[in-house]
Amino acid sequence: MFRLSFQPYQRRFKQALRTHHGLWSQRDGILLQLEDERGRMGKGEIAPLPWFGSETLEEALYFCRHLPARFSLHELEAISEALPACQFGFGSALESLSHRPAASENKEALLHSALLPTGKAALTAWPALWKRGYRTYKLKIGVSSLATEQDLCRTLLSELPPSAQLRLDANGGLDAQTAQQWLEICDGSRPTSDIEYLEQPLPVNQFEDMLRLSKQYTTPIALDESVATLPQLIHCYEKGWPGIFVIKPAISGYPQQLRQFCQTHAIDAVFSSVFETEIGRHACLQLAATLSTRAVGFGLDHWFAD
Ligand SMILES: [Mg+2]
Repeated sequence: MFRLSFQPYQRRFKQALRTHHGLWSQRDGILLQLEDERGRMGKGEIAPLPWFGSETLEEALYFCRHLPARFSLHELEAISEALPACQFGFGSALESLSHRPAASENKEALLHSALLPTGKAALTAWPALWKRGYRTYKLKIGVSSLATEQDLCRTLLSELPPSAQLRLDANGGLDAQTAQQWLEICDGSRPTSDIEYLEQPLPVNQFEDMLRLSKQYTTPIALDESVATLPQLIHCYEKGWPGIFVIKPAISGYPQQLRQFCQTHAIDAVFSSVFETEIGRHACLQLAATLSTRAVGFGLDHWFAD
């Protein structure tokens, strides 16, 4: 049997993050501590991202508040698929409690991608990140006009050192025509290219169009919003997605199930953050250390004031 204690938290960003989903200025989440009958403690974190399809913070709080004072392993393993961030929080707390061997050496060897501020600020932000050792950068697009963003992208590419790599993330904010225009720019910068991939060009309901684009262009397309939870990821895998899968473990569901899926299917995966705290991040990076095939998207420390 287990007992739970939990604490909601808020962390403000130094500067709000602008994406196609809107402006985001504060991360709200819940820190968990599980205790078993032997007095062992395990920590976990619930970091919901409702506009990606996870539960809301309120739904997660409701779940935590309505758990019985003592509950069984069976109850922990039967959290609804509608609460993927809770599944992750409780699943990783359970792993930390039973001290699953840490892949700490691998974890430190992981390469990280740094998220640039959206728009012109990206041009002044990258040099400091370069000095801190980042070589892969991510830029949000699909926010202002196509011409403005493409100019910015060209300038950024001309300023970045040749060994840098750039990821473009549209958060589903393009249409078929603008997606093609972006992919032409991306392909045009090859073979020396510096654009690693284009992430989620079209909305989730346009899977077939993204599949078609991924066959037309050389630059890989990565699905992110389309594969937010493990059931969605499995669905796209089964429909034959040939490109990259962005995995945000904190909203994917149980880490045990994610690990099992990734270990039995050869997928090209990028592990990515949802701005969780060190507790959630540790659990995510442990998964990434064994499963990731590319630089992971956890280069976000520079976004928080604390
Ligand atoms: Mg994304």
